[in-house]
Amino acid sequence: MALMINDACVNCAVCEPECPNGAISAGDSIFVIDPDKCTECVGYFAESQCLDVCPVECIVPNPQRPETRGQLQRKFEQLLAI
Ligand code: SF4
Ligand code: SF4
Repeated sequence: MALMINDACVNCAVCEPECPNGAISAGDSIFVIDPDKCTECVGYFAESQCLDVCPVECIVPNPQRPETRGQLQRKFEQLLAI
């Protein structure tokens, strides 16, 4: 399941450089996560790196993108191939 950023985001930007997939960027009002690039860090780390650094805990599962670990692994492999 890709992650998403909710309205509690304070635009501190500390999460952006932590993402190994380049999935995080500044949006119109808050930072956003591209669900096509977020693998929950599967393929790189055991834990989601953005969750570890966010000071306000506004990064949550994206209910629009239910994905198994196997699907996240395949997304990781497809991103590597690009
Ligand atoms: S969980 Fe990992 S891949 Fe997904 S946005 Fe956060 S740092 Fe990037
Ligand atoms: S670390 Fe959290 S508060 Fe800071 S920009 Fe990222 S999502 Fe927003």
